[in-house]
Amino acid sequence: MEIKVDLDACTGCKLCSSACIYDAIEIEDKKAVIGDNCVFCGACIEVCKFDALEITGLKEEKKDFSQYKDVCIFLEVDCGKFLEVGKELLSIGRVLADKLGCKLKAIVLGHDIEDPNNMFEYGLDRLYMADDSLFKDNIDDVFAKAIVKAIQDFKPEIFIAGATSFGRTMIPKVAAILKT
Ligand code: SF4
Ligand code: SF4
Repeated sequence: MEIKVDLDACTGCKLCSSACIYDAIEIEDKKAVIGDNCVFCGACIEVCKFDALEITGLKEEKKDFSQYKDVCIFLEVDCGKFLEVGKELLSIGRVLADKLGCKLKAIVLGHDIEDPNNMFEYGLDRLYMADDSLFKDNIDDVFAKAIVKAIQDFKPEIFIAGATSFGRTMIPKVAAILKT
């Protein structure tokens, strides 16, 4: 997957580099150059008035979301400990799930994760947990692929993650892969 720049269309206007909060775009010789720290959030594509940017490498397929239901929260852990933001999201998720008349679920990925039972005090109905050394370090590509697979398998209608520094780099990749 990459952001492709149409060099004929790009005018070097810098709108994209201003819109990229990840500082992943440089303008060189009046052309946009995308850096390796791009997280595929798509913000640059939306602001480019010259249609000079596109995400390539995604499989085109017709999406059928008719089976998707329930609210799902990504519970982030640090050294196996649940972050407070996850509890806040569960509380909001519970309100949303009750309004929609559906279940509140959550996903946690990590290594040596602490006992998750008290998460159910925040209204959680079901928890999907993967405790593996693969998730010891917060490597966004690894987490993004695992979460995409979980979303495809468990089919939540709404998926929410906290705006932590990890969440802000990892979740846009999930959204880009799922094209949603
Ligand atoms: S916003 Fe579009 S035209 Fe302007 S520099 Fe970026 S890619 Fe080029
Ligand atoms: S897709 Fe997002 S992160 Fe990547 S270059 Fe564009 S604005 Fe920056």
